[in-house]
Amino acid sequence: MANTGKTRWLTIIALILLLCGYTCTYSLGEGKPLVLQEMSWTDVQDYLKTNDMVIIPLGATEQHGPHLPLGTDFYEAFAVSKMISARTGVVVAPVLLSGYSVYHSGFPGTLSLKLETMEQVLFETAEILIKYGFRRFMFFNHHGGNRVVEDKVMHRINHTTEATALRIGIYAPFQKNEKEPAPFDYHSGIGETSIMLYLKPELVKMERIKKPKMTFTPKMQEILELTEKNPELMSVLDTMMGTPQETKKGGASHELSSNGIWTMGDPKKATKEFGKKQVDQMVDSAVKFIEAWKQVKK
Ligand SMILES: [Zn+2]
Repeated sequence: MANTGKTRWLTIIALILLLCGYTCTYSLGEGKPLVLQEMSWTDVQDYLKTNDMVIIPLGATEQHGPHLPLGTDFYEAFAVSKMISARTGVVVAPVLLSGYSVYHSGFPGTLSLKLETMEQVLFETAEILIKYGFRRFMFFNHHGGNRVVEDKVMHRINHTTEATALRIGIYAPFQKNEKEPAPFDYHSGIGETSIMLYLKPELVKMERIKKPKMTFTPKMQEILELTEKNPELMSVLDTMMGTPQETKKGGASHELSSNGIWTMGDPKKATKEFGKKQVDQMVDSAVKFIEAWKQVKK
């Protein structure tokens, strides 16, 4: 009797362990995001047996007006990358909390890395991931200032290693961004405040929002007036906005905006629903792309 009872218990324990082993492995990528820092090396080893893709979020720690946290761009890039991971099973590997943001440094708290530093950190990260077997790199960038670094590091990975790198964030060709809810709604305005109301409402202080006073230099004004008939001239304006104060273009954040918010609209009009709409669109487009790319065998 005692022996039969023992055997039965052993069988039950073995079954539980088996089931746990199965569900634990199975749950990887099934509705839950895979974040490199939360995985063990054995999880990564298992992952690489069937997948060689990795998402690297790119954001910033920089001023986002008086109502949004400095980490806004990082939170956005990381949160959206995790949503994409949950739906595709692709691992997310956050590497940097800050980005290239020197033109926001007229407002305290902003962190910024030199372009070369950022490129080097990202490239060395790619190199070590390649060593383990990662071959397909996707950058999810949510900060305009990082775009040039994203370009450089993708080019370096594509032209000096056997891996492939491309973008799936806001500048990806398949991301059709929502129409701006107001002119110049570039930074911490209606669009971005809405995204944060959806992703991190506990960090949004709506009561602090004030419509910014936007200041454009006479040259910017001149171009702006011409854009009414020649909308293509917006690209000239784009080269002037978000430039360091030393360039004397008047495009540093504190020169353009009285409180760090860049918009001609009223950021109080931000809503969680509009935030969700923008996020869903970014996630859906990236997921569609990744599922298509998965058809190309590893
Ligand atoms: Zn931002």
